[in-house]
Amino acid sequence: MEKTENKRKHLRQRLEERKHRRQGAMLTPAEIREHLDKYVIGQEQAKITLSVAVYEHLQALAAREKEDLAPDSVRLPKNNILLFGPTGCGKTHLLNQVAKVAGVPFLEVNAPAYSPTGYKGTNISHILEELLAKTHGDARQAERAIIFFDELDKKASKPGIQSFPDAAYCAEFQHDLLKMVEGATYEVGDEHLDTSGILFVMAGAFVGLDQVVRRRLEREQPAPVKRLGFAAPAVTAKVNARVNAKADAQEGCQAKPAGAQAKAADLLAQVTPEDFVEYGIITELTGRTPVLCRILQLTTEELVRIMTDGRESILRAYEGLFNAMNVDLVFTPEALREVAERARKRKMGARALNAILEQLLAPFISDYEDEDGLRRTLTITAAYVRGQGKAQVAINATQTVNDPENGV
Ligand code: ADP
Repeated sequence: MEKTENKRKHLRQRLEERKHRRQGAMLTPAEIREHLDKYVIGQEQAKITLSVAVYEHLQALAAREKEDLAPDSVRLPKNNILLFGPTGCGKTHLLNQVAKVAGVPFLEVNAPAYSPTGYKGTNISHILEELLAKTHGDARQAERAIIFFDELDKKASKPGIQSFPDAAYCAEFQHDLLKMVEGATYEVGDEHLDTSGILFVMAGAFVGLDQVVRRRLEREQPAPVKRLGFAAPAVTAKVNARVNAKADAQEGCQAKPAGAQAKAADLLAQVTPEDFVEYGIITELTGRTPVLCRILQLTTEELVRIMTDGRESILRAYEGLFNAMNVDLVFTPEALREVAERARKRKMGARALNAILEQLLAPFISDYEDEDGLRRTLTITAAYVRGQGKAQVAINATQTVNDPENGV
């Protein structure tokens, strides 16, 4: 009985997936982008890059399916993606949404889990077991997936920028990964799984990458005449001037003095595949991930919008919780800015928002007692967020007037 029900459930899921697949194949980059705009705040360039890459992935899948009928047709090249930028600013979130709209299976893999001492061990082909489990053993469906490889930077094989205790293993890991990314057939349980159609997205914060770019730019400068060993600062000043001029032209702002320090963000705008090789990603793997996609630090305004906008906004979730407690939760615009500003300073991206809001609101939740049944409004002010004042709690006006029985 239970077996029949499971079979039915699986069949329903497959029909649903097939429906998505058909819809996915017809999506345009603009439609993918439109979906991303609903859920992801900011990161405009990344949204454009990803919607094009995913559109091409869907087209390639469709072409592969046709190819089964016409074996001599030409294959589209696969454009795997290297996504880099600060933590908590939307890398995983973007890819989750991309896979959702494309209607293809999505697997998130955390690179550090694979290591000689890590809980997943060293054999990265386990990834395919996880993928197959996601598709209920359907290998053909698994071959359409997007695999998101997070924290690839923790597997950089060159020591120096960060400390890499398992340097030898890191190089081995990257070579195993390369085989999977290039496309090979693996035996997974009773199934054969060909990875050549899977879209791989490698991601990481790549802390210190700006310094790798700086060093390269300094090397690329024509060598000035060396006088008494003062060449290096002269080159650095030139690099700063060049990076600043480029950034200013993009931002349309006034030129900075030639000696002004080039900002990390400006340096990262000039990143090349060779910089990732210098960072410790093997050349072949960099070559297989030709799409470089940069994630930016979130601004205060964007952090405010992440709190307030969208169906899944955290503030909406708290409003729901307080509503059930008979309380209207209100943040003043200044309080929202203050929360966002504090989150920005923590450099954890949107992740810091949850922690800050929880800290601010937990006292009201723990003290909650609905003694008189009257609806109240809790107003969170900027002063309260700064720890300089109390939040305002007031009984909603209409009730006090209309509810004399309660004597308020
Ligand atoms: P990372 O860049 O480290 O992969 P995540 O994508 O996991 O960061 O972000 C953590 C959480 O923060 C997400 O689940 C999402 O709720 C929120 N978030 C981060 N960036 C954005 C963004 N640009 N727009 C909307 N929500 C975001």
